[in-house]
Formats: sequence, C-alpha cells, structure tokens
Amino acid sequence: MSTAIWGESDFQAGEAFSPSLLRHLLHQMIVQFAANGGILALFNENLGQMEICLHLRMRKNTTPPSASQHGPQNENSRVPNRLTTVPLGPDSSTSALERLIRPAQAVSSDDLEDVSPQQSSLFPVGNTYPLGQDIIGYVWGKNEPYVMRQEDYLSFFYSGPQPIQTDVVPTWYLATPIQESMLVDEIKNRKKAARMLGVVVLYQTMPGPPFQQRQRAEAFNFAERIALYLQNDRLRQRQLRIREYLHELQEISAAFPSTVQLATLVEKVYEFVSNVVDVSSMLMTLYDRDTRLIYDVFAVRNGKRVEDLAERPMVIQPVDRPTWWRITQEEKRQVLLEDAQLEQAGYDELLTGTWGDQHKAGSFLLLPMKMFNRVIGSLCLTSQYAHAYQAEEIQVLETMVQIITVSIENAKLYDRSRQSLREARQREEALAGLNSALQSISTVLNTAELVQKFVESASRLVEAEMSIFFQLSPDKQYIIAQAAYEPRRTLLDEEELAVAASTGALTNDYHPELIASIRIPFKGTVLEQMVSASFFYLDEPMAEELAKISAEEGAIFLRETGIQKMLMVPVLYQTELIGILGVHTPQQSHIFRPSDIGMLLAICGQAASAIRNAQLFAEIQEAYAEQQRLDKLKDEFLVTASHELRTPLSAISGYATLLKRQSNRLNPQQILRFASKITGATQQLTDLVSSMTEAAKIGTVDKKLDLQIGPVQMQPATEMAINMLSVNIEQKIVFQVESDLWVQGDPLRVRQVISNLLDNAAKYSPPDGRIEILAGGTILDKVDVPEDQSDIEADPDMPIVLVHVYDEGEGILPEDQKRIFEKFVRAPRSLTTPVRGSGLGLYICRRYVEAMGGRLWLQHSIPGEGSAFSFYLPRIEGIAETGKDIPDESK
Ligand code: ADP
Repeated sequence: MSTAIWGESDFQAGEAFSPSLLRHLLHQMIVQFAANGGILALFNENLGQMEICLHLRMRKNTTPPSASQHGPQNENSRVPNRLTTVPLGPDSSTSALERLIRPAQAVSSDDLEDVSPQQSSLFPVGNTYPLGQDIIGYVWGKNEPYVMRQEDYLSFFYSGPQPIQTDVVPTWYLATPIQESMLVDEIKNRKKAARMLGVVVLYQTMPGPPFQQRQRAEAFNFAERIALYLQNDRLRQRQLRIREYLHELQEISAAFPSTVQLATLVEKVYEFVSNVVDVSSMLMTLYDRDTRLIYDVFAVRNGKRVEDLAERPMVIQPVDRPTWWRITQEEKRQVLLEDAQLEQAGYDELLTGTWGDQHKAGSFLLLPMKMFNRVIGSLCLTSQYAHAYQAEEIQVLETMVQIITVSIENAKLYDRSRQSLREARQREEALAGLNSALQSISTVLNTAELVQKFVESASRLVEAEMSIFFQLSPDKQYIIAQAAYEPRRTLLDEEELAVAASTGALTNDYHPELIASIRIPFKGTVLEQMVSASFFYLDEPMAEELAKISAEEGAIFLRETGIQKMLMVPVLYQTELIGILGVHTPQQSHIFRPSDIGMLLAICGQAASAIRNAQLFAEIQEAYAEQQRLDKLKDEFLVTASHELRTPLSAISGYATLLKRQSNRLNPQQILRFASKITGATQQLTDLVSSMTEAAKIGTVDKKLDLQIGPVQMQPATEMAINMLSVNIEQKIVFQVESDLWVQGDPLRVRQVISNLLDNAAKYSPPDGRIEILAGGTILDKVDVPEDQSDIEADPDMPIVLVHVYDEGEGILPEDQKRIFEKFVRAPRSLTTPVRGSGLGLYICRRYVEAMGGRLWLQHSIPGEGSAFSFYLPRIEGIAETGKDIPDESK
C-alpha cells in the first residue's frame, strides 16, 4: 500500500518526482546552456515556497563543451558523432514527450557533482524561498527568465551567510521559471490558472562570454519542456497508484460475500477512501427495500469513528430523510458541494445527523450506491479543504462504491436466499434420495418393489396423506393400482376402519393382491380426457362418475378414500402413458404448491423410465433365459446326435470293411448276417434322421401338421406298432386292446406314437422287465389328466380311447418328469448311459397326439420301479360295428 497521498495536494516538492529524472533534466539544461552549474527549486505546497532540491555543477577540471556555447539553436552545427541520447528512466521511455528532448551533449553525468552546503553557501539544497525572495522568488513572481551578474545578485538578492563561503564563485546567472503546462482536459476540468512548478538557476564561473539575453527565451522554452516532463512523471506515478487502488478494490470485493461482515467491509471502505482523498468525516447509509427503512451503518465524525454502528445501525424512517430520499431514490444523483455551497439551504439534512454537523467542511461529496437503476444507499464524505474531490478521484471512488454496492446486494441476496436455499436443499436431498432409491431399484429391476418405492418417495416428498400408483392395462381399458402408501393413518371411525380393512384401501401395508384389484375404467372416461394435461385434480363428482362404472373394489376405493381433490399426475415414458400417480394433500386442506407439483412431475418422469426399464429388462431377461435354455438343449442334442449317428455308422463301416477284406473267405450265412447288420444300422440312421426332420418340421407350435385324419382301429394299430419295434427287444410285451376301439386320427402317426412309447419302455428297462400296453374306451371327464395337460375347452363328456404303457424300468426323477416332453430333452441319467436316443421322441409324440385332438402325459414314474405313459384320442364308432353301443370300460 502506497504511503503517498494522492489528491491531497496536487503538487509537492522533490520527492513527488523521481530523483533521477530531476537530475537528468538539470544536467541537460546545464549542458545545453554551457553553464558550469545549476540549481533546481520546486514548489513545496505544504510550505507555499520554492525549495531547492538539487544543486549540480561541472567538476573543476572539466570544461563545458564548446559547441554548447551557442546554445540549443545551434544544434545543427554539432558534430554528429558526439550526439547522444541519454535515457530518462525505465518508465518514461514510452513517453511521447521524450521525443521533445534534445540529444544531450556528450557530457557524462560523472562530469557533474552535487554541491553540498559545506562547499558553497550559495543555493544550498533544502533552502526555501517565499515569493519575491532571492533570485528564485523574484523569477517566480515575475514569471519570466532573468540574466544577472554575480555582483548584482549579491547586492540585490543574496541573504545567506556573510561573507559568502564558496569554493567556486559564479560570474553570471540565468534564472528561468518552470511553469505548469496546461493540458487540454485540465483546462476543461479545473478552470485554474497555470501554476508555477519551480525555478531553474544556471550559472557560469568563467569570466568568458556571459549568458546572452536571447538565451532567456531559449531557457524559457527549455523550462516548459521540463514542466512537461515533470507533469508526465506525476501522471505516471498516479497511474501506478491507480493500479494499486484497483488492486485494493479487488480485495474489497473479494472480502464479500465470503465474509459477510458489514463492519469489516465498511472499515475497508473507509481505509480505501482516506487513501484516495482527504476525508475528515464519512457516512454510509443503506436503504432496505424489505423493511422500508433507512440505516446509517458507518460514520466517522471529524476523524473519530462512531462506534458499533455496523452492528447497531441508526434506523431512520424515509419520511425523516426527505432530502436524502429525493436525491438518492428519485433523482439518483451525485452531489458535490464546495465551500459556500455548503451553507446553502436545502442540504441541512445531509450535513447533519449521525456524523455530526458538517456545515463547516470545505468539500462535501455524496455518491449514490447504484445497483442497476436502483439506489441501495449512499456514501457521503467531507473534507476540511475546498476542492478536495477532483474528477479523477471521484471516478475512483465511484468505482469503489460500485463494487461495494454489488457486494452488499450480493450479501443481502445471499442472506435472503439462504432460507429458500435450505428448503431447496432439503428437497434436493429428498430428490437425491428418491433418485438413489430409484437407481438402486433399477439395478434390482423388480417392478413391484420399484413402484412401491415410487409411491413412498412421492408421498414423503410432498408430505402427502396418501399416494397411489395406477398402471395402464396393456389393452388401455383400465388403470390398475400397483402400489399405495399412506404415511399416517387418517382418523377413521370404527365403521370406516372396518371398510378400510376389508378393502385394504386405507391400511398402511396394502396387500398387493388387494391393491391390484382396484381397477378403474380408463378408456372413454374423464380420466382419458384429462391425461393430456401434465397434472389434474380428481374431485368428488369425477370420482363418483368413475365409481359408477367401476367394479366393486374400484368403486369402494373411489367412494371410501374420501377423495375431495386428489392430485393426479400422468406418468409418461416419452409420449407413452404408463400410468397415473394419485396424491392426497395433507387433510386435503390445500392444493399443492407449484414447487411440490414440480417435484412430483420430476419423480414421475424418473419413475416412468425406471418402470419402463424394469419392464424391458424383465422381457430381455426372459428372452435371454429362453435363448440360453435353447442353446443348452442344442448343445446336448449335438452331443446326443453325434453319438447316435456314430454308433450305427461305425457298425456299418465295420461290417462293410469285413465284407470287403474277407469276401473270399466268408460263407453265405456270414455274408447275410453282416449285410443284415448293415441294413439294421442303416435303418437306425434313417430313423434318427427322419425324427430330426420331423421335429424340425413341427418346430413351431403354431405350425399345422400335415395329417391324414381318418378312422383308426386301435387293436391292429398296436400290433403293427409292436412289429415296428427293433428286432432285439428282450422284454416281454403284454397288450390288452379291445378290437372295437376306434379313434379319429392319422393311422401312421398313431402307430408311431405307440411304437415310440413301447420303444422307450424297452430302452429304459432291464431286459427281464415287463412291458404292458392297455387301451380302453371312456369319457374325458373320467380321466385323471394332469392340470397342465387338461384341455379346458374340451367337452368333459367326449368319448375317448385311453392308452397306458407301463414298464418296470429305471423311472424318471421328479425334476425331469415335465422336461422330457420338450424338444431335445433327455433325462441326465440317459445321457450317461449307452442307451441311444435324441430326446425328440416324446416331443414328437405329444405334438402328434395333440394334433389329433388328444393329450399325452406321464401318468406316474417311480425311479427304480417303473413308469406309466398315457394318452387319449377322440373315440369314434367303429366302421364295422356302426350303430352298436360302444362298451364303456369304466363301467
Ligand atoms: P429319447 O428316448 O430319444 O432320449 P424321448 O423324447 O423319447 O427321447 O425321451 C426323453 C427322455 O425321457 C429320455 O431320454 C429318457 O430319459 C426319458 N424317458 C422316456 N421314456 C422313459 C421311460 N419309459 N422310462 C424311463 N425314462 C424314460
């Protein structure tokens, strides 16, 4: 922080300028005028006198350069290589004024020496001269250059110690005033006369040619240039200070609002102001729009602080400060008063009060604290001096006031918004809570849990009495309740409680099934009309209208929940309606605030995508699981199929090789045996390939099978099926099939089904096991068809032929019993045994039976004891026995 006081006085002696500049200027002048020495005196405003700040002379053994004898006007005759420019100093090198200075003679500053008061009593440094005194005061008063002999000087002016003590005695003097140059803007702004900056006195010590009279004019010009330099230097220093002020201003604005302390701020302001201008008293006043009151928050009364004003400000009603009100709130202007103006009527109010009586001040300044077009207060200053506040300083102060105004307003806004900020933060937290709830659920992707959390969060967020989420049914006819939440049980009487308990509509833990039974018609109702709005209220008449067309549970909900005004928020995923969220206000006493509705809309938006995600995820999961199951089956099938193909193939190639190699050694029986082995294996391969093609053909459930439906007599069909079995079945097959049993079906497929079941029975039974096939007529109702296989649409009185195939084989584990009917599925046990199979047989059989209007299932199976497969087909009257009664087996 600079200690220089800017603005307090416009001009000061020596120390206001950089000493090197002063030295340089005097040096230049000595050289230019071929003088032996020179004195520079500057005006000291504090003393009101000229003060010598520099006294230089040529060292004794050096002679002034001859060229300079002719003075500056003879510069053209100078020897070029002796011309040199002496830099003024680091900062002034940029100055345009520098170009004005003439190249200095090649007299180094080493050739000059400072003259101390001990060396000479003539013009000692520090000596001061009032106007008119000595040659310096004389030239100052005359305001023109003056040439004078030493003798005349001594007799007219010299007032120093007698006799003169000096080692060098001057012969001639040339004294020149340095007058302030008037800058254009200064002329405009200050309207003052040019001031005297100082006086230069040059002297010669040689008896040679004296100073010429014409050199007076040259010296005057030169002095004018010196004045420009001095002013330039002063401006530069001002600039530096302004930079410092700006830096300080930054600090002030940085002090706010992080440290929201008015006391600190105003203290800083005062410090700043007193560094910029002279201030004896200061007053900061604020007007608060909220309280409509005026506060004096800081005051300095003639240099003394009015204590604790920031903490306990002076409170004033606007009516008590009409002048202040008019100037700041209506005219919104600055006020600058000088001397006599302070005595004028009309400003009394501003000049008195908290900061004491200011009528005696020399200057008064009021700066309005403007925030855009609004004035939030004022800063008033007084100085005991007149003209204490100049345009430039006022500008700096205005900037400062601007900054603190913004700071104070910010702090006020900050204060004001803190409360709403806290509320907003609470909601933000609620939202964040909801968000994380939704997010965590989304990862679980359990829709039921998700909607439960959704209604809970919605209810908590807006402190609702109750919230309920309805999902739109897939056919868009209804909205069906999915989840409901009621944080506090409302006061119900006994009867109401009973109703509530019976419907589940008003209990805390809604039973999901009860909830799901609340269905309200949507299509074509008032609801459908309203959902295009981002939210709407369901009032009593609307609820009643809906109750009339609702099923029981829905109607109970609509009538018994006590709906007066239920806020309904459509839950939309993009443009698709997913459902509606219904929320009750607390005691239904008020309509929700806009912020509440905003939050509900936000949650509904989030919930919509979460619900949609959950649904999509579930679908994908299902599809994926199905895909995986099929993949697994395919793999299993490939293992099975390759095994199945390899066994007959190796038999074929083995016997074929034998035939080829030993053809000449084999007898006809052997050849026949080998050939029939090959034929058998070939048949196996053909069978396998055909069942695979068959399965592929009937692959999709919807595909109609190409069947040749007609009457089939069961007894011959069974016999043929037994014959179709592979030759080497070792088990004993018992069959009981009445001859008059006829079914409606495809004869080939019927035989295939029977033969397949017998084949399985044989395959999965020990060689000594017994296989039995039974067939009889009955009606559907009498058959114990497993639930997943019963045909609900079938007529219970339908006559059927029921076929059972029993074996005493290994049986099927309970967990495999359902699966074995699926494509490619083989019980794990069968996979590890050498028993051949593709896992297609039962699948194909069931599809054939179903296509012929029957059903096929596993009747029972006990591992280690045996299994029973059953199927029925619609019975028809036999061709030969037409008209005869069909004997009923169940009788
Ligand atoms: P395959 O017999 O070609 O493997 P199926 O579809 O006919 O294919 O039978 C599927 C599976 O059901 C068999 O792999 C076997 O594990 C089991 N299975 C079928 N019938 C019986 C049975 N009578 N006794 C024991 N297991 C059987």
